[in-house]
Amino acid sequence: MTPSQPFSLEALDTPALVVDLDCMEQNLKRMQTFADQHSVALRPHTKAHKIPELAALQLEMGAKGICVAKLGEAEVMLASGIKDILITTPIANPIKLERLANLYVRYPGARIIQVIDHPDHANAIDSIATKNGVTIEVLLEVECGQKRCGIEVGFGLKTLIELINALPSIKYSGIQAYTGHLQHVRDYQERIKLARISVEPVFDFINTYLTTEALRPEVVSGGGSGTYDAYEGIPFTELQAGSYLFMDWDYHTIGSRNGSATYQDFDCALKVWTTVISQPEPGRAVVDAGMKCLSIDSGMPHVEGHKDIQYQTGGDEHGILHYPESNQGVKIGQRMMIIPSHCDTTLNQYSKLYGIRNGMVEQCWLIEGRGRSD
Ligand code: PLP
Ligand code: MN
Repeated sequence: MTPSQPFSLEALDTPALVVDLDCMEQNLKRMQTFADQHSVALRPHTKAHKIPELAALQLEMGAKGICVAKLGEAEVMLASGIKDILITTPIANPIKLERLANLYVRYPGARIIQVIDHPDHANAIDSIATKNGVTIEVLLEVECGQKRCGIEVGFGLKTLIELINALPSIKYSGIQAYTGHLQHVRDYQERIKLARISVEPVFDFINTYLTTEALRPEVVSGGGSGTYDAYEGIPFTELQAGSYLFMDWDYHTIGSRNGSATYQDFDCALKVWTTVISQPEPGRAVVDAGMKCLSIDSGMPHVEGHKDIQYQTGGDEHGILHYPESNQGVKIGQRMMIIPSHCDTTLNQYSKLYGIRNGMVEQCWLIEGRGRSD
């Protein structure tokens, strides 16, 4: 899909999803460097981009494997040749169990790890694995404050590991301890403190009760783009950050280590290229990107380079811009970049992502995992 010749951004129709390549490459490098310097393996969450070529780039930079949220994304990534995948959401119906086992049969050289949190998952996975003559590897998700999925840290967890160890076709490899509710805590010190407190019981339990060879987790995976640097001295083996690659505007408004009220660690690389299609009165204009182009589950997006312009959703297809009447600069036909408030849910609405550098379109990737929440 990459254009044979770079072409001017002005020649790209709108609305279009674009990524600033310099910015993305810097974000990539920063997270990989952090992981390398702290001797933790990076297993980036690819739900952020759903593009096999970007997953391959992350691996090339030094990532140990990738995370996907769903089996559908895993199918896309495995088909592209990626060989080390953690599926971070439990599965629970016979169709999915069959699909998971089938991936083991089709990709015998790949490492595919499924997250579970209940004996019912363990028994069902063991049965389907036995039926297909494979051994399915699992991580156990533990509850660390989000109250989403995750078994409570305690003797139920130890019993679940013992059950898995007693079953013939399922292999216990470790624990997933992810704190999604803390990634966007605004104050840096508060965020770090809460992130550490939330996983302390997990590591205390491991150190006290999961000490034998059979019970000790080989993998402890967790951390996101807001908490990746919270765990100094806490022995996570893997970091599962994902949003760092693109950085959404909501992430941009969390505080930094250096006291800044905005996040300095990574910059916003993902943008929607839009056109002003109407300007009904001074101080109000409309762009061609509404909710089908810019998700609003994390608040309104940000109009890049125009501090005095506020974006308000105008429904499915329109974005309404409000600005002071004294701003005479906004014109019908003008192009603008708008930074999504939440990249994951915005990207899932597009089939292509364009890579831009110095005002030129250099890349075009198919978002192959788009819509694969199945
Ligand atoms: N791990 C899990 C289980 C997630 O659900 C997510 C994102 O929602 C991540 C990792 C990545 O976190 P972030 O996007 O904040 O980097
Ligand atoms: Mn997200």
